Amino acid sequence: MINNRSQLPKRIERLEEVAYNLFWCWNPSARGLFKAIDRTLWRTSNHNPVKLLVQATPERLEAVSKDPAFLQWYDSLLTQFDSYVDAEDSWFKQEHPDFKGAIAYYSAEFGVHNSLPIYSGGLGILAGDHCKTASDLGIPLVGVGFMYPQGYVVQRIGTEGWQRNEYHQIDWKTSPVRPAKTADGKDLVIRIDLGSWPLHIKVWKVLVGRVTLYLMDTNVAGNSPGDREISGRLYGGDQTMRLHQEIVLGIGGTRVLRALGIDAKLYHCNEGHAAFLMLERIRELVGKGATFDSARKDVAASSVFTTHTPVPAGHDVFPKELIEEYFKGYWSDLGIDKKKFLELAQSPGQDGWNMTVLALRLADRKNGVSKRNGIVSREMWKDFYKAKKVEDVPIGHVTNGVHMPTWINQAIGDVFGQYVSKDWKLHQDDHAMWAKVKDIPDEVLWRAHEGCRRNLVSFIRRKVSERWRKDRVEATQVLAGGSLLDGETLTIGFARRFAAYKRATLIFNDIERLKKILLNPWKPVQIVFAGKAHPADDGGKRLIQQIYNLAKDPTFGGHIAFVEDYDMHKARYLVSGVDVWLNNPLAPLEACGTSGQKAAANGVPNLSILDGWWEEGFSGENGWAPTASTHLPDDERDAADAASIYQALEEKIVPLFYDRSANGVPAGWVRVMKESIRTSTPQYSSNRMLKDYVDQYYLPKVDSKKKNKAAVPV
Ligand SMILES: *Cc1c(COP(=O)(O)O)cnc(C)c1O
Repeated sequence: MINNRSQLPKRIERLEEVAYNLFWCWNPSARGLFKAIDRTLWRTSNHNPVKLLVQATPERLEAVSKDPAFLQWYDSLLTQFDSYVDAEDSWFKQEHPDFKGAIAYYSAEFGVHNSLPIYSGGLGILAGDHCKTASDLGIPLVGVGFMYPQGYVVQRIGTEGWQRNEYHQIDWKTSPVRPAKTADGKDLVIRIDLGSWPLHIKVWKVLVGRVTLYLMDTNVAGNSPGDREISGRLYGGDQTMRLHQEIVLGIGGTRVLRALGIDAKLYHCNEGHAAFLMLERIRELVGKGATFDSARKDVAASSVFTTHTPVPAGHDVFPKELIEEYFKGYWSDLGIDKKKFLELAQSPGQDGWNMTVLALRLADRKNGVSKRNGIVSREMWKDFYKAKKVEDVPIGHVTNGVHMPTWINQAIGDVFGQYVSKDWKLHQDDHAMWAKVKDIPDEVLWRAHEGCRRNLVSFIRRKVSERWRKDRVEATQVLAGGSLLDGETLTIGFARRFAAYKRATLIFNDIERLKKILLNPWKPVQIVFAGKAHPADDGGKRLIQQIYNLAKDPTFGGHIAFVEDYDMHKARYLVSGVDVWLNNPLAPLEACGTSGQKAAANGVPNLSILDGWWEEGFSGENGWAPTASTHLPDDERDAADAASIYQALEEKIVPLFYDRSANGVPAGWVRVMKESIRTSTPQYSSNRMLKDYVDQYYLPKVDSKKKNKAAVPV
């Protein structure tokens, strides 16, 4: 029963089923229908239908259940929902009609919708987009991860600009998640050994279209208070806690699949956190009588490992003593001794247990997440593989993409529907189709985009006004939060995690030069920042503080804003509502950088250092690429890279944006917007990404031309 006070009226009772399938988060008709029940609740729930149905009054539900227009919409939505969820036909069915079983995708975070705050950034959103796309293409994927009941940090910025970490306990009643059940209808709870003691794991289920996510939670009766905290928060706690989490993810996750009787044929490990899954699978086979070597071979042949981290220091490395403590007894189950066991995750020249090394050793197919990231990864692991040439390192790449129906603003999507193809979502990775972008009248695209910008500005104002009214923040905080933003001004967006390599404060390198750009009375510019620092990262928090204090500085005239608590909800407004998407990482440390892809597809051109996806995505006409001075020492690089960004703004971007014709449309600018959409949408659609994974990594056809020699390693 969804509603505490009353059941849904019989005539519309299937709304509950739709609300519990995150299909709605990328289906405009479903979103519109929930919004039609109560526009205010739709907004105050941050677009969460489960919460909306719980909070809607029985009278209102009764009324819509008798409204013929609503019912017609409801019926047609349910027809659409059923035919989506039960579809027999799909891209995958056509490509692999004989494939039976499942593909298990393990990730420490999943970003599907803001109502499930179990992600911190790009890695999680990628996992969420992977699931949505698998659903669209009919790929039989199941996700394995965590249900963190306190989610990821909620960011509050104090008066002094310092990030305060808050955690909000999830409200099970208003979240689109339910307990997974056993065949006899009981809540599924499994048991694993954590070192020398038992640990109980409860399993939650989230439906993402045709894909199911199984999320583990250790807050279960029978576990010690410490163990109940294992799944408490994403990336909280010390190294031992982290090891506990990774044991739960890899080993627990595999036991969950067994308990549910899911016949996984392939296992995809998204980043090294889940690599214990490969050990667990070897243990199972050895338990059935295989030798370690043959079990290892079988496991490797059915494992895919995606690595994202381009620096050695970024990988999870545990002290060997800690591993020994928890895996004492485990190696004999694998049929090997301690020495051989510890060697599995040993990287030459490094003392410790390296999760990435474990995954590289135990998975046959391995990839980075952009062309550049593939090159960087091969370079990084060259010695490990004792490879004579970097090309011989068996790590390929699949460039990330984004789930377009999630990330393209509806008004922009409607324009695509009218001028590109009414089925653009079905053919979103078809390059030829996107050539039709040129047929969109400039004024139509421009007005749709201006609508997005104005929506963004009013959204930001509404958020700060709530903080003013409800939380009594200070007036300067309301200013810093964006209350002075203007709906017509050229707006630059910079939003991502505050990790040091992303250099959030780079644009302030020469404050006077920046002020001249922002405060030009004829051609003003404003910048909107957003992003969380990792809760333990004081360096990241200092960067936020710096920006926040500049946002409060009257000499910037309200042209800088810092939007609190960046999440998927705010990201959707930002990637469509700003005019330029800025990214200035310290190259080549950006593994891919998917937010720029989201912006590009909305007709928001990128102003980005050539790194990650942009190095392959920049065409010369679809945005701007200030030169990255990779040859200089770090401190000089910052000044040189910043100067190159100022120059692009002064000479190209600002003049082009304000060069208007009589109807107010900037024709030159719209040309760049269209190029951005035309070139980026098909190529960085996650449909292209998933097809690459299936064709090159999941089920490579033996005779297919290998695009990249390293993609299917020996
Ligand atoms: C897309 C997205 C990211 C990833 O951004 P990058 O450009 O890869 O850093 C992070 N956070 C949120 C909320 C996003 O939507």
